[in-house]
Amino acid sequence: MMFTLDVSALPDWRAIPAPRRAEILYRVAERLRERQTELAKVITDEVGKSAEEAWAEVQEAIDSGYYMAGEGRRCFGITTPSELPNKFAMTVREPVGVVAAITAWNFPIAVPAWKIFPALVLGNIVAWKPSEHAPRCAMALREIFLAAGLPANVLQLFLGDASVGRWLVEHPAVDVVSFTGSATNGREVAATCGRLGKRCALELGGKNAIIVWEDADLELAVDGIIWSAFGTAGQRCTSCSRVIVHEPIREPLTQMLIKRTQQLSVGRLIHPRARERCERYVADAVAAGARRLTDWPVLLDQVTPQMPVAQEEIFGPVCVILPARDWEEAVRINNDVPYGLVSALYTRDVNRAFRAMRELRSGLVYINAGTIGSEVHLPFGGPRVTGNGWREAGPAALDTYSEWKTIYVDFSGRLQRAQMDR
Ligand code: NAD
Repeated sequence: MMFTLDVSALPDWRAIPAPRRAEILYRVAERLRERQTELAKVITDEVGKSAEEAWAEVQEAIDSGYYMAGEGRRCFGITTPSELPNKFAMTVREPVGVVAAITAWNFPIAVPAWKIFPALVLGNIVAWKPSEHAPRCAMALREIFLAAGLPANVLQLFLGDASVGRWLVEHPAVDVVSFTGSATNGREVAATCGRLGKRCALELGGKNAIIVWEDADLELAVDGIIWSAFGTAGQRCTSCSRVIVHEPIREPLTQMLIKRTQQLSVGRLIHPRARERCERYVADAVAAGARRLTDWPVLLDQVTPQMPVAQEEIFGPVCVILPARDWEEAVRINNDVPYGLVSALYTRDVNRAFRAMRELRSGLVYINAGTIGSEVHLPFGGPRVTGNGWREAGPAALDTYSEWKTIYVDFSGRLQRAQMDR
């Protein structure tokens, strides 16, 4: 590998007080705002997002920048009483060191921002391996960090394919790997990190579901399903690929969805292989008894919950309709998939809504909204194959990029023994 990871900037960067580091982050957010339309165009050109979605993606990065700049004056630890007299106890967050951020193509600005801002505000330096499908977005974002005054080598860019990612994960100077991508690749990264004893935070795929109950506002539900299933051509980790419908409203909801889906035209997927992959899932499902209700984007019914099309992440505009006779069955179908990113419920029954919040096993739950719509000041991620316990965004993101230091100050002037002296 011809690349060099230069870690010499780390001591000076971590020595800068966090509020000062945060001022640079704030300036990055300001510059992103000034260049929002221009950057959105780079996203559109490079990965094919609509202008509106690309603009919103940059907005997410701006929001992350402002939010994490605020963390520069928080980064709260705890102070707590000691069990012994004249002894003081507190915790502080410290940077882990060198962060490898490895990111997916489908959010080439927002997902890197989720990682880079918290890592930097805490005093880490970042080695970023963006997707091979989005190098121009990566170069544009890095240039904005530099223009905002980020010292050289605090954010280093490594362009290339998976082999560059593998090299970074293995690199002895890298302390923590934050990976966003597919489950298969994430597991390989996790295995390497396990072997090398490195911290590894995974943000992987989803098999997200929207449950529609008989008392729901059906027009609202259809709006949410169409946007969640087919927005960004279904190429979001949060895309809805399963609609779980309460049996009494199965027929009217299905008809409404067919009508709306037929009115859509979905843009190109990231590469021709992605479309072929979608069609393969659909053909296999149809061969196993499913019914194709629309051409493209694709709605399917007569699907059983265990078919691959209803279990695996397809990452394209393919959505299945699964009926549920009662609440227990709906919850079972929702939970019985390998992934656990997003679940949503449409209902007007407050009691059912609260049951859903408790019983749907995913990292994010929406009531009366689709599966897309997370905000940067709340945690993002999910259990099972979707992740490994860490979270992006919000205060939870700080955990990935910091190490707790626990500090005791004994000012008694004598030997005091915890657990022994009473
Ligand atoms: P991908 O796994 O193909 O690639 C992701 C990144 O990892 C790329 O930069 C790639 O070069 C690199 N990479 C691939 N294999 C690697 C390895 N073995 N070691 C190190 N680096 C490696 O994913 P993609 O196609 O770019 O993105 C789509 C996937 O990302 C979907 O599964 C989607 O659900 C997921 N995603 C998840 C989130 C989330 O926050 N949960 C957000 C966006 C996308």
